[in-house]
Amino acid sequence: MHGKLFDKERLGYCYQCGKCSSGCDINRLDPSFQPHRFLHLISMGAGARLLKDEGIWKCTTCFACSERCPQGIRVTEILWLARAMAVASGFVPDLVANQRDALLRTGRLIPVDNRKRERAGLPQIQEEPSLAARIFEMVRKH
Ligand code: SF4
Ligand code: SF4
Repeated sequence: MHGKLFDKERLGYCYQCGKCSSGCDINRLDPSFQPHRFLHLISMGAGARLLKDEGIWKCTTCFACSERCPQGIRVTEILWLARAMAVASGFVPDLVANQRDALLRTGRLIPVDNRKRERAGLPQIQEEPSLAARIFEMVRKH
């Protein structure tokens, strides 16, 4: 299935209408985020550049672009795959890597800020392996 996502013949159906970008909420917040340009890069054979583009990590995978594409191109899944390929190639932005590590360590994306809690007069919360972290560990062993 993944091979077909980057299938040149399929991507050739993209005629750069921009509907994917114009319906994207992230594009509204950050006009430099333009999914149709990612498609253009891939169809020009420059997909490797896409893997190094931190912009691919801004996508919320809401599927609005895929629903809007008149050519039935699965834009969301293409960005999803680009991220997987970026990870496999070692291109992971620090913020994403930190969140991944925190998730594996504690089961949470964002670590507890005990200094902030102290300032608010709240009791400390000890970081300890959560159920999620133990599940990750079990999965890793299998
Ligand atoms: S909506 Fe579809 S055809 Fe239009 S630019 Fe985006 S991917 Fe290409
Ligand atoms: S899936 Fe990603 S690129 Fe597509 S509309 Fe949603 S945020 Fe934008």
